Amino acid sequence: MSLAFGWFLLIVVGHIEACIHYQTFNVPAYKAIFMRYFMTQPAITLSGKILAACMDLLLLFVLSGVALAYYKRLNSRMFGMKKTTQLKTGDRVALTALWLIFPLRFLAESVSAGIHHNGSIISQPAGQLLSSILPVQSLEMPLWWAYSGALGLFFFALPVSRYMHIPVEVVMIFLRNYGIKVQKRIDGYSRIQIYSCSRCGICLDSCQMTHAAIKDTQSVYALKHIRNRKITDEKLFNCMLCGRCQPDCPVGLELNSLRMTQRIESTKEYNSSYEYLKNGKVDVSPQTEVIYFAGCMTHLTPAIIKSMKEIFAVASVKYWFMDEDKTACCGRPLMQIGQYKAAQKLIDHNRERILASGAKKLVVSCPICYKVFKEDYAIPGITVQHHSEYLLNLMTDKRLPVNKLPLRVIYHDPCELGRGSGIYHQPRLLLDEYTEVIPIKNEKEAAFCCGGSLANIKIKMTERSQIRNKALDEYRNYNPDILVTACPLCKKTFAQSPNLPVHDIAEIVCMSITKSLDFSNETALDFSLKDVAIK
Ligand code: SF4
Ligand code: SF4
Ligand code: SF4
Repeated sequence: MSLAFGWFLLIVVGHIEACIHYQTFNVPAYKAIFMRYFMTQPAITLSGKILAACMDLLLLFVLSGVALAYYKRLNSRMFGMKKTTQLKTGDRVALTALWLIFPLRFLAESVSAGIHHNGSIISQPAGQLLSSILPVQSLEMPLWWAYSGALGLFFFALPVSRYMHIPVEVVMIFLRNYGIKVQKRIDGYSRIQIYSCSRCGICLDSCQMTHAAIKDTQSVYALKHIRNRKITDEKLFNCMLCGRCQPDCPVGLELNSLRMTQRIESTKEYNSSYEYLKNGKVDVSPQTEVIYFAGCMTHLTPAIIKSMKEIFAVASVKYWFMDEDKTACCGRPLMQIGQYKAAQKLIDHNRERILASGAKKLVVSCPICYKVFKEDYAIPGITVQHHSEYLLNLMTDKRLPVNKLPLRVIYHDPCELGRGSGIYHQPRLLLDEYTEVIPIKNEKEAAFCCGGSLANIKIKMTERSQIRNKALDEYRNYNPDILVTACPLCKKTFAQSPNLPVHDIAEIVCMSITKSLDFSNETALDFSLKDVAIK
């Protein structure tokens, strides 16, 4: 339970308790907040006793949260938080007040319980203990004043501090539970998410940019600068949008969407022209089962296209190779740099051609394309599949033979396919049939980014290499024969390092079913699958 939510429950349950005690809905707020001070008799009804016990338990939860936060601050390294953000004066005042509020409330309630016997399961025994060792009569008023002072100080400092996230987070939780999501423009909800960041710094530890000594562009800093209206392109665009920090955010913020929204907001639209793209009728046979869209990056890794063509032939799939002439991009790289309107022109062009083909299934080889076709095209009646899903279907439908390869492989989850689209199991199920997959620590949601992301237009090549090499170092510790991925950009990025051969999942399937494909054109690799003996 978060501190914000625990506090919110204390307010709600406290108000219900006050309404029942005073037998009216019209209870002034101060009477509910300082209930144990004004309530000079113990609760006698069953509901009153139950609510008093609930209040004690809630206060205990909140106090344990405060104690943990305090302990974490003192021992941040023990919790893996090597770095944290700096506090400003407003933050320090609000934090000090926040740490005092709940212990003072507990002491004040316990002292009142020691005098009036109006406590419950925790405050009553604490009150009896205090009354046996301290002059509780003379302590009661100062403690309640101290509690009021801490409350007042906190709310005074709140608007100029990071702790504004406490009330805003409660609102965000309710809106999120109603299915509201960050859209592609800055609106009220995205502002609520921005203000809900507690600046706990947990997202810093998952960010691989620190492997390249980039330490000031991570989500916590981006949100802080957006909130203070001081965001620069340097910070906004120096992020791979890999999403690795997002699952770790305890508040559950949509960190990639928030950054994307701000990128769209702060990018000047250039007047892009795609007149050369011809829309209209496409010449496709009525028997066409599948539209295949390779994507720009796949055209730069031709072994993937060769493999897909071979697989389509073996499985007797009639397909239309939509971007064989390499003219159309899916539009997502433009979106990632904030050129949303330019991307829309490409989307409209591609959508028209897909619909004109009459086919009902679109298979894509690039996870970046996959995500945009799934989410932004939304073409009615068209099923979009990444080739790892599609090949799994072909295999389970017995349209592809299975010859297990004598390979121990690590599967690298591409960010856009895994964290971005939730496709974790299909590639593994497929690879399990064709190879032996080694489970590793940083996989699925915690998978590394390769460092090659097109979404970062500020990072230097040397920094990309540092990020890639750190990931490869970890992979090599498991002694795999090869690294397998399902993204042409990941393949291209990892292939730049000669120490671990890397192949796309389609190449593995192709090698297994044809036993003959020659990958020797992939000169960046020092390993050729044609050398592998097939059982
Ligand atoms: S984005 Fe999430 S993890 Fe990062 S500082 Fe904010 S609340 Fe913490
Ligand atoms: S999306 Fe990736 S690169 Fe960007 S801040 Fe998060 S972890 Fe770092
Ligand atoms: S190329 Fe793959 S791992 Fe690298 S950033 Fe893109 S999706 Fe992530």
